[in-house]
Amino acid sequence: MTDPDRSTRQAGAADAVLTLTDSATDSATSSATGPELTAPGHGRAAGTAVPASAAGPPPDGPGVTLGLDIGGTVLKSALVAPDGTVRSESRCPTRSGDGPDAVLRTVLDHAAETLDKARAADEDVRAVGIASCGLVDEEAGSVVFSASIQWRDLPLRRLVSEQLGLPVALGHDVRSGGLAEARLGAGRGHRVVLFVPVGTGVGGALLLDGKPFPGSHWSSAEIGHVVAQPDGDPCPCGQRGCLDTIAGGVAVARRYNERRGSRPPVSGAEEVAKRAAAGDPAAVRVWEEAADAMAQTLLTAVTLFDPAVLVLGGGLSQAGEQLRAPLRRGLERRAAFQVLPDLVFARLGERAGRIGAGLLAWDLIEARGHDGVRT
Ligand SMILES: [Zn+2]
Repeated sequence: MTDPDRSTRQAGAADAVLTLTDSATDSATSSATGPELTAPGHGRAAGTAVPASAAGPPPDGPGVTLGLDIGGTVLKSALVAPDGTVRSESRCPTRSGDGPDAVLRTVLDHAAETLDKARAADEDVRAVGIASCGLVDEEAGSVVFSASIQWRDLPLRRLVSEQLGLPVALGHDVRSGGLAEARLGAGRGHRVVLFVPVGTGVGGALLLDGKPFPGSHWSSAEIGHVVAQPDGDPCPCGQRGCLDTIAGGVAVARRYNERRGSRPPVSGAEEVAKRAAAGDPAAVRVWEEAADAMAQTLLTAVTLFDPAVLVLGGGLSQAGEQLRAPLRRGLERRAAFQVLPDLVFARLGERAGRIGAGLLAWDLIEARGHDGVRT
């Protein structure tokens, strides 16, 4: 963080008072147009009171950015206004079963198509932001490795920029989702935010002053791979007893099925949660073990990062208090000197990644200067 001007702008974005007029607490209820997010003084929806030089592009026509969220199975995109409003969005399968080149082709074709449609609708697309799964080197603009897509050292930023003729910012999917939550969602107004999406695995992102903190090797806050049980099950990462092997959705379903022996298996952790709520002893036990391991690991994260707020996201956060209550109890039981953060649920649902990608593109525009990036 050697550029003080950039730091100031980012802190300003994080501190902006934002109004969420369409609560998006549940990804399952996503509408076609997304949450209406407005930031006074930031963007044309704002009735700006902040000079354009400090607040971003001029209010008479800032345009939009194209945010792309590349997952293992689905590619999602959105046109994102400077204040985080989603103008339109779409999705398509990544075709990861057809190999890494097919996924790249899908991304390039989908982006070009979306850009054509946006221009036909008179939208001024200023830049592109990409949130990719895997290990992402944001500075170099490359995907170092993605297990689900089998990309290795892919210079994705350059490839997309050459294809579309626009500036491109590349980020990591969890950190981009965390960025959106920190600026516009459940973490807004807080300087240190820990975003923990719990889905098939447990992810983590640390946001400082509204900016993702990737670490030195693009792998900070990998909470799912903190060892929670040293002699536990092997994890694909190479360690044993990672939190992922106890509390990730895949692990919760597997551990429940193992306890039930030859009885018909459940397909996912959501079913285990339902059965636990209904009093099924095996499900209760597996769920409690997951929550307990997560509380232990999160207290470690709290000890290291001292976040003001801990944002729970991902599919399993739909379990609501069934997840949050035992986590809170586990944290309170263990905490000594630590000041515990507020435990809150993500507000942007599965849109967070592409909104965050769109915000990364706006950050790029601001960093380059308002007039320097139009093509
Ligand atoms: Zn691991």
